[in-house]
Order: sequence, then structure tokens, then C-alpha cells
Amino acid sequence: GQVGVEREGRVIAHFGHTLDVRAAADGVVYRCHRRANLEGLVTGDRVVWRAADDGTGVVVARGARDNILQRPDNRGQLKPVAANLDQILIVFAVEPEPYPNLIDRYLVAAEATGIPPILVLNKCDLLSTQKSGSDLSHLLDGYHALGYPTIKASTAQSDGLDALYHQLAGKTSVFVGQSGVGKSSLIDRLLPGVSLRIGDLSGDARKGTHTTTTAQLYTLPEGGELIDSPGIRDFSLTHLDEQQVTEGFIEFRPFLGRCRFRDCRHRNEPGCALQAAVERGDIHPDRFDSYRRILNSLGIMT
Ligand code: GDP
Ligand code: ZN
Repeated sequence: GQVGVEREGRVIAHFGHTLDVRAAADGVVYRCHRRANLEGLVTGDRVVWRAADDGTGVVVARGARDNILQRPDNRGQLKPVAANLDQILIVFAVEPEPYPNLIDRYLVAAEATGIPPILVLNKCDLLSTQKSGSDLSHLLDGYHALGYPTIKASTAQSDGLDALYHQLAGKTSVFVGQSGVGKSSLIDRLLPGVSLRIGDLSGDARKGTHTTTTAQLYTLPEGGELIDSPGIRDFSLTHLDEQQVTEGFIEFRPFLGRCRFRDCRHRNEPGCALQAAVERGDIHPDRFDSYRRILNSLGIMT
């Protein structure tokens, strides 16, 4: 590459002050430093960088972000972990059975980021043997009816993988979900064996190994990209206000602003459009319950 010329790229991993940047033009990965004033770069960020003559580079600017995934650090402060995602795949499983409300919590958290969520029900090989199997299948259909893409999968039996490949192709995705639902199994299946980081490391960047707990961006052999780290898999509901929770229930949206009182909190107020929608059957009572439970758990509803 040409030394000194400003080029575009995407951060695919970072280790403190060091970043791996994939050049947009040729897909080659350059080990980069960043300008001191450029803090808070995360995996997935689009950047402008310049190559040095030793095969490394320096990041000089960050592009605008479409969206950002954040998580609380050990002091409870929200910190960005990944940027510019196309979708969040929420994984749950026939076993461990999701507790009521869990899926709604993930959906609300995802909606608050503005990144479209996809629901993946894993371990479908257990659907017939598990007592709750048909209920879960039914539950998933309910979310599908709300407009969420849903995928039934079994990593054990290699079911649903084509649907998954199709959903991932051409997009940057993350997998989130409770421990034990099969996220590692799914990701192992999607990224078999060797490091499939996009492109080859150039020059000196090839030397030395590194480990990181921060998010990394991987390319999938079947198409698409995956950003993954333990911290991303842990993604959950945090720090949302009442409006974000309310809007996180997508089927509520047509009714918002239609209550008799402008400051209606959708509890027992007369003329509440949401409660009327529940009574008419336009909003499922379980979702409305779930909404209240989330507000309660966040300490918003007193
Ligand atoms: P993670 O904590 O979400 O990463 O879950 P893991 O991938 O570690 O899987 C947890 C357990 O579920 C492991 O014992 C897996 O072998 C098992 N598991 C994963 N996928 C399936 C599946 O499709 N069917 C069944 N029956 N078990 C699975
Ligand atoms: Zn209302």
C-alpha cells in the first residue's frame, strides 16, 4: 500500500492503544496505533488511517457510527464495546428454558440500541422431549407475528443452519443470550477451527501473538461478519428510561401518544390507548404484563 495516504478501514480488534484495522480497499489487516486524541475506538468502527513504511499504520479519524452496543464496566458506567452492527441475534434454547419475560427483556434492550433483533431458538432437537417444547415453539411464532425474524436451530443436529447462514450473509452480527443456550456451539459451527479474521496480517503485524478479551470481528465462510466477545454475549437490559422500555415493545408504538392524558403511564388511567388495545386483543396481555414487570425491575414504576 501507499505510505502516508489517507485510507479507509474498519477496526476488527483492539488491544489498548493498538488496533487491527482492515483496509477497505483490499481487505488486508494492518496493526495500527491511534492518535492520542482518538479515544474510545471499538471493534466495528470505521476509521481513516495511514500506512507507515514498516507495514503498520496510524488511525487518524473515526467515521460516524450507525449505532453502538454498550455494556456497563465494573463501576457501572456504560462503555461502548462494538459499533456499526446490522443485527443482534438473541439466542435462547429449549433447555435451559427461558424464564417468562426473558425474551422481552432482550428485545427491549436490543430495540433501545436501534439494532434490529433476530430470535434464535436453539436445541430444537429437544422440542419433542421437553415438556415445554410446544409452548416455546408457539411463543416463537408469536414473536414472528410481531414482525421479528425467527430461526429454529439445533447445533446438535445441524438443523436450521441454512436459515442462519442466510440471515447472517452480508451483515455484521452479534450473538447474545443466557449462558448454556448454545452460543459457543453455534459460533464454533459458524467459525470452524482456524482464525478466520478477514484478510492477512501485513508485514510486521504478523509477528507476535496477542490475546484479547475485547470484541473481535470475524468473517464467516458462508458470508457475513460476526463481532464476538464474552462481554457482548452478556448483553442485557441496563439503564433504560421509561420511554425506551415503552417503545421497546414494538406493537405498542401505533398506540403511543393516543391516550387521553398526554402523560399517561398506561396503568389504570381512563382513556389509555394501550390498555384498550390489550382489551381488544391488539396487544397480547403477556407482553403488557412483561412491560410492567420490566418497568418494575428497573425501578421505574413505583
Ligand atoms: P453458551 O453458554 O451459550 O455458549 O452454550 P454452549 O455452546 O456452551 O452450550 C451449552 C450446552 O448445550 C453444551 O453442553 C452443548 O453441548 C449443549 N448444546 C449446544 N447446542 C445444542 C443443541 O442444539 N442441542 C442440544 N441438545 N444441546 C446443545
Ligand atoms: Zn396510556
